[in-house]
Amino acid sequence: MDYPGNLFVVAAPSGAGKSSLVKALLELDSHLNVSISHTTRAPRGQEVDGREYHFITEPEFRAMIDHGDFFEWAEVHGNLYGTSRAGIEARMAAGEDVILEIDWQGALQIKKLFPNAVLIFILPPSFEELLQRLRRRGEDGAEVIARRMENARTEVAQARHFDFVIINALFETALFDLKAIVHAQRLKYAAQARSKRAVFEALNLN
Ligand code: 5GP
Repeated sequence: MDYPGNLFVVAAPSGAGKSSLVKALLELDSHLNVSISHTTRAPRGQEVDGREYHFITEPEFRAMIDHGDFFEWAEVHGNLYGTSRAGIEARMAAGEDVILEIDWQGALQIKKLFPNAVLIFILPPSFEELLQRLRRRGEDGAEVIARRMENARTEVAQARHFDFVIINALFETALFDLKAIVHAQRLKYAAQARSKRAVFEALNLN
């Protein structure tokens, strides 16, 4: 499958700072559309249905799988998560840029479906630092943190399958790196030809 817009996929182990980076990027870049996933996990804290996620039941999720409603879906930490076609297909077809913040399993499924998708992996500077961040966040108990650290080792090993890697040691530097990747992708010939059609036509380029 090929669409005119750019598709960015960001994955990371939990605690690497993925959500904060994507949130900051979205605030700076009004041309990026974030996809809102469906999940069977319960809302946390201030989360609102339809904003962070579409919160649905497992039977509803399974019915969506059966109807072929997802571009990709995966089980992560015991819950189901998926990117629905309805959420992004129209935007991608209209040539808009879309960003997915999903786990590595979903990212690899997306790459198979959209070979032009840009896969970005956010790494922590070390496992020690990741552990410190998870503890500092204060969201999870010792047992959950231990499970997340165990998962992080498997997740980090998937970085080799991604197009770009950002090491999030300093937030501002990592954000600069993320912006640079998005910017470079938009400067590719095909992307420029699409967005600067009048210029290309005037120069007899296509
Ligand atoms: P959380 O429950 O902490 O919001 O997310 C847990 C993990 O699921 C994160 O790595 C998040 O990026 C991932 N995730 C969120 N939405 C999707 C999705 O639509 N598909 C997949 N494969 N993973 C997702």
